Amino acid sequence: MKENIVLVDLDGVICDYNKELFKNNLLSPEEFYAETWKELNISAKRKKEIRNFVLQKGFWSKLDPIPGAIKGIKELKKMALQVYICSKPSVYSWCWSDKYEWIMKHMPFMKENVIFTRNKSLVYGSYFIDDSLKELSKWPHGRKILFHSNKAIQYSSLPNDVFRVTSWDEIVSFFQGGETI
Ligand SMILES: [Mg+2]
Repeated sequence: MKENIVLVDLDGVICDYNKELFKNNLLSPEEFYAETWKELNISAKRKKEIRNFVLQKGFWSKLDPIPGAIKGIKELKKMALQVYICSKPSVYSWCWSDKYEWIMKHMPFMKENVIFTRNKSLVYGSYFIDDSLKELSKWPHGRKILFHSNKAIQYSSLPNDVFRVTSWDEIVSFFQGGETI
């Protein structure tokens, strides 16, 4: 099974980006029906408010971990999997440092296992766990695992090569079950 490299997205899989928008009344869970707020059919004024909020330095420091994520990553590491966080920061320098600081605060044991890139499709691995079907669709290397954390998104159908999970317990079970590509 190749080298058992597991790439894990950060926002929406490990840290709860959307919850911070809900907590600050910028969006409601029901209206967040797309993968990113940029795709929502809301006014330009509201998008600007959201943009200003998420692009503040320190935004990531406020984010909570997704339930079960940190424990789940520890479980995967125990299974002799090579686990890497693979995230695509915005083109603002502080977004890159904010994300790294978040990792150092919540999961310092991953400090050597971080890949930041603007093009995830260039990153090789055996598995990719991401909450973005768009990103997974562009990734050509291995097994694609969709972390369906945003319940407002309804997928009428999924590509055959995408396995859907809704929690970290399911991710751990997937790998405990000895799933192979
Ligand atoms: Mg994401």
